[in-house]
Amino acid sequence: MDLIFHGGASEVGRSCIELRTDKGNKYLFDVGIKFKPGGLLFPENVRDIKEFDGVFLSHAHLDHSGGLPLFEHRNLEGPIFCTRQTFGITKILLKDSFKIHRIKNFHVAYNNTDLKKVRDDTRLVSFDKWYRHKDLRFKYLNAGHIPGSAMILVEVENKRLLYTADFNTKKTPLMFNTVMSNERKNVDVLITESTYGYRDLPDRPDLIKKFLKKIKETLDRGGSVLIPVFALGRAQETLILLNELDSDVPIYLDGMAKQITRKILANKSKFVDNKEILRKMFYERVKWVSSERKRKHALKKQGIYVSTSGMLQGGPVLNYLKELWHNEKNLVCLMGFQAKNSNGRHLLEEGYVYLDGWKTEVKCEVEKFDFSGHVGREDLQKYVTEINPKHVIFQHGDEESVNALKDWAEQNLDAKVYVPRINDKYSL
Ligand SMILES: [Zn+2]
Repeated sequence: MDLIFHGGASEVGRSCIELRTDKGNKYLFDVGIKFKPGGLLFPENVRDIKEFDGVFLSHAHLDHSGGLPLFEHRNLEGPIFCTRQTFGITKILLKDSFKIHRIKNFHVAYNNTDLKKVRDDTRLVSFDKWYRHKDLRFKYLNAGHIPGSAMILVEVENKRLLYTADFNTKKTPLMFNTVMSNERKNVDVLITESTYGYRDLPDRPDLIKKFLKKIKETLDRGGSVLIPVFALGRAQETLILLNELDSDVPIYLDGMAKQITRKILANKSKFVDNKEILRKMFYERVKWVSSERKRKHALKKQGIYVSTSGMLQGGPVLNYLKELWHNEKNLVCLMGFQAKNSNGRHLLEEGYVYLDGWKTEVKCEVEKFDFSGHVGREDLQKYVTEINPKHVIFQHGDEESVNALKDWAEQNLDAKVYVPRINDKYSL
């Protein structure tokens, strides 16, 4: 069998790996997109695929799911396997991304009907259960990254392959972590994410304490707090954390996080933790905002504003920032990774953002808290060592990350180590 890397090799974004078996069957692990200034990138060369036999979708994030409608557009038939929670959230994200790209006049390469076809072709799978499909067997395992997220274990041609996708070995207030299991040990092929291959992540309990303390300080000096969040994962964890805050200042929730939170609460996943707190926060404590009029009203007095998007690239968060940036008493809490050239990164490193096209020097306080749904370097190395694979493939990380992991693995593991480039083929 061969593995062909259409995306996500030495980059974060547009994850897509093809598994081509000796019988000629073609399977894909994820079909993501990558955002670039002014447009979108799809996985390379998937347009050449004339037919395929199935997609294993690991989780709903668009860098893993965003390219699915492209296949439907070309009338390629093949089941898309995913968990129920991933399905529910992916539908919302795809629809929203389609809407946004049309507004921005990006070339999206598919249409509204294709979104419906994605829904029709989806086959739901349960966690921890073997399924047979054509010439392979597969099983979905909790990845601990976001609600619905999975690692995919495949048995094919007498070999065992584990695709981790994005994962976390540490528990967070929202997610139960992934665990080690016997069937994951000694796999023939391990394909792992490498997002934090070059550095460790801060200890979460400490980080949570610092986060709550900083908010409290801001409120005590009379300031408001703006928390830009990603709609899926970070938004829900933030609400759970704010439950611990000792304050009566109103908390407002704006943007797509509302829809996603409702979906997460409607699902009975056993891997999502603190659902009752989340339910209480979402339906009782937090005030929902969805119009300009309500936003203006919310901003009249001191408040805590939780809003998308997480990197200040768009969404209602910018409407709040426009009102809050000039007061030194206020605080902006960035909650995680800020991509190069994003407004969030500019703010963090150079102290400015673009508001309505104007470069604006932000006067309020800005603090970054490194909350992450990914595994940090040390835990990743531990996890890979425990699995003890015959082949290990590091992808879904920038050059610095994948190369750091390659060096480490070559010195410490008994495995063949491989770092793919886009379009590379790895034969097994
Ligand atoms: Zn992800």
